Order: sequence, then structure tokens, then C-alpha cells
Amino acid sequence: MQKDDLIRVTIEDLSSDGLGVGHSDGMAFFIKDTVIGDEVEAKIMKMKKTYGYARMTKLLVPSPDRIEACCPVARQCGGCQIQSMSYPAQLRFKENKVRNNLMRIGKFENPPMEPIIGMDTPFRYRNKAQFPIGYSRDGRRIAGFYAGRTHAIIECEDCLLGAEVNQEILETVLSHMEQFQIEPYEEQTGKGLLRHVMTRVGHSTGEIMVCLIVNGTKLPHEEALITALTRIPGMASITLNTNTEKTNVIMGRKQRLLWGRPYIEDTIGAVRFRISSLSFFQVNPLQTEKLYGKALEYAGLTGEETVWDLYCGIGTISLFLAQRAKKVCGVEIVPAAIEDARKNAALNGFTNAEFFVGKAEEVLPEKYKTEGITADVIVVDPPRKGCEESVLTTMIQMQPKRIVYVSCDSATLARDLKYLCENGYALQKCCPVDMFGNSVHVETVCLLSRK
Ligand code: SAH
Repeated sequence: MQKDDLIRVTIEDLSSDGLGVGHSDGMAFFIKDTVIGDEVEAKIMKMKKTYGYARMTKLLVPSPDRIEACCPVARQCGGCQIQSMSYPAQLRFKENKVRNNLMRIGKFENPPMEPIIGMDTPFRYRNKAQFPIGYSRDGRRIAGFYAGRTHAIIECEDCLLGAEVNQEILETVLSHMEQFQIEPYEEQTGKGLLRHVMTRVGHSTGEIMVCLIVNGTKLPHEEALITALTRIPGMASITLNTNTEKTNVIMGRKQRLLWGRPYIEDTIGAVRFRISSLSFFQVNPLQTEKLYGKALEYAGLTGEETVWDLYCGIGTISLFLAQRAKKVCGVEIVPAAIEDARKNAALNGFTNAEFFVGKAEEVLPEKYKTEGITADVIVVDPPRKGCEESVLTTMIQMQPKRIVYVSCDSATLARDLKYLCENGYALQKCCPVDMFGNSVHVETVCLLSRK
């Protein structure tokens, strides 16, 4: 088989970045824009030793799970890799992915899985959006997103994952730009003014934040823009962020409040959070509440426990647990996130939560060695690469009754669970949660108990 050959393939699975995977002549092929169950004709684009990449030339037999993508720019955008797959099929795919990784990598024969927790509808769930501003081919000022890996802007003011109000915000900003001839920022030359518009909407409060990212310190006729934006119901915060660097990083560090408060508020469960334009916050608060609710259930707290929450971010899980624990200690590498965690603890009147800045793999072993810290329950929510071995070995030495593992990558999760289960723990329960409908990502929460 070689480049340009035509092959006939049935799609059996999806790769971690959403490409369809099927076999021909014992070789695996990755084929974009296909759905599990599709039978396609495809042209080989690139061959490697044991696999290749191909492009679909004909959809021979569509999968019964194939649907029409709702978003007209789904293919160009790449943000929603699996919009052409029905939502029930998406959930089945995610549940299987977690189960397969636990079996294949974790060596669990029959993983104790609970059914995946899906969303009511997999659209309009994102509370944050960042739109680059630029020119269309015919010279209009537009907002949208970057096409694939390039920085060409595809016009789109209404991402179906985001809030409907984004469109009104963008129209207001763009018409202000037209009226006063404000130039969008141009990456090649470093000239022009407005780079991005960032929006956040509080899911439970309805409060809206608009942050204008500017290649400079002000915008012409700011007052007029503020007047127009504040007509939008819910507007709570308008800020101007200065970013004059030639960089892909969207936000700069300097910020000026144009109107309202420098933050909005939102809640997850009964816990209130103050979110500034620079702080991290979960993008899908509704599902976050379900995920952390599961983590809380698994933690089995009675009010007497000492809990360590590793990779705690702004303390979302920590504060969720603090409602039912004697004491919660959070560890996180980003200092600004820890500042937010402390502020959020104070805002909610928690006096039983303490936060430490540092790497989990350094803070935990260090504190165990020098202070002999103990825990009844340890919760971890690491980034994709999972836990460092020194975190796992220290957890094992600390002998908590229960470990709750929250993961955004079921492959590294399975690897870490295997290690814990070879060293005195047993996997009790596992529950996948869909936080990012229409994408291939899936979160999982697991309960381990000491044998
Ligand atoms: N539970 C958190 C989010 C966890 S995401 C929340 O709800 O906000 C993973 C977090 O781990 C991120 O905040 C990241 O900054 C942090 N992190 C990454 N590597 C780390 C390390 N080595 N030690 C501690 N924290 C780390």
C-alpha cells in the first residue's frame, strides 16, 4: 500500500484527537471527519510503518450514529471533533474509552463502572469564550476563531458551545469598531489595536464579563462602547487588558477596569466563586457540580476527616469537600490559583481549608517526611500526564482509608490506578462524566479503598 491508493475501511474507533480509526490489510488508518460505524472509501495521504493517514473520498455506508452537525463551521473549526456523532453514541464512545483503558492499561478484568453521567444537551455549556478579531477577505471587521492550526480567522459570532449573548457582545464591539474605524490587530505587522474579545457568563448568576484585549492602553471612544455594552442585560464587568507583545498568549498582564466590578461571581453547588478575567474557572459549571458531587460521595466524609486535595487549582474540589470535612489541605503549582483559592475560602466563610503553593511531587513527600502529615482521604485531580510516582508512593505511605482520583485522561488514570492497586489499594468504583460534549474528552472519578 502506498500514498494515493484507494482503500475501503470501516471505522471502529476514534483516536485521542478525534480521528476515525479503521483497518485495511492489517494496517491502521486515521481518517478525519468520520464517525464510528461509517464505511468509507479513502485515499492514503501518508504511510508510516504500521499505520497511515487517509482522507475520506466517499461515504459508502453512513454509520447509524451519524447525524448532521448543527454548526455550519464544525469541520473547519476542529473545536468539536465529534459533532457528527449522535449524543448517545458520544456517551457510549466515552464510556468504552474509559473501560478499555482500565482493562488494557490498568489490567482490571472487570472494572466497577457506573454509567457515564451525560449532559442534558451537549450545547451552550461553555461559560468562557475568546474570539480573535480581524478582517474578512472583503475587508470587513470580523470575530471568529482560528482555522485548524493556522491563524486565519473563520468568521463565527455564535459558537454553539458558548452563551447566546456572545453574538450580541461581538456585534456591539464590531459595530463600534466600524463606526470609529478602529483597526483589528494584525499578527504579522504587530499593528492595529483590538486583538481578542473574551467573555464570561456566570451560569447561575447570569453576570456577564467582557474583556477587550488591546494592543495598547486604550480604545478610541471608550465611553460610547461602554454605553452600548451596558445595554446588554446582565453586564457586570468590562475590562481592558493590554497585550503589546508579539505572542500567541491571548491575555496580557496589565488590566484596567472600564466599567462595573473587576470580577463576576458564579456558584458550583452551594459554593460561591469570584472570577476575574485572569483567573481559571471550570468552563462547564453544571457538569463540574456533578463531577465534584461524585467525588464528594466517593470521599464518604462524616465531618471528622482530614483531607488532602492535590492539584487543587482555585480550590473548587477543596471547598466542596470542606463543607463536610474537619480539615482540607490543597496543593497547587500556580501561585495565582492559590490566591484565588484562599479568597474563595474566605468569601464562603470556610476556616477549615488551608492551601500550599508548590509541586505536589515535592510538597507532599516533603511535608510527610518533615511534619509527618496524615490524611483520612486523599483526592487528586492531576493534569493529563497523571501523578508523578513520588506522589503515588507518598500517598501509599500515608495510608489514607480512601483515595479519590479525578482524571481528564483515562490512559494515565489506568496506569496510576494499577500502581496503587499493586500497593495496597482496591478499585471500588469508577464513574465517567461528560464535561465537554461534542469533543472527545472525558473526565472520570474513581474510588479506591485500602485493603
Ligand atoms: N481541581 C481543580 C483543577 C485541577 S486541573 C479545580 O477545580 O480548579 C489540574 C491542576 O493541577 C491545574 O490547576 C494545574 O495548575 C495543577 N498542576 C499541574 N502540575 C502540578 C504539579 N506538579 N503539582 C501541583 N499542581 C499541579
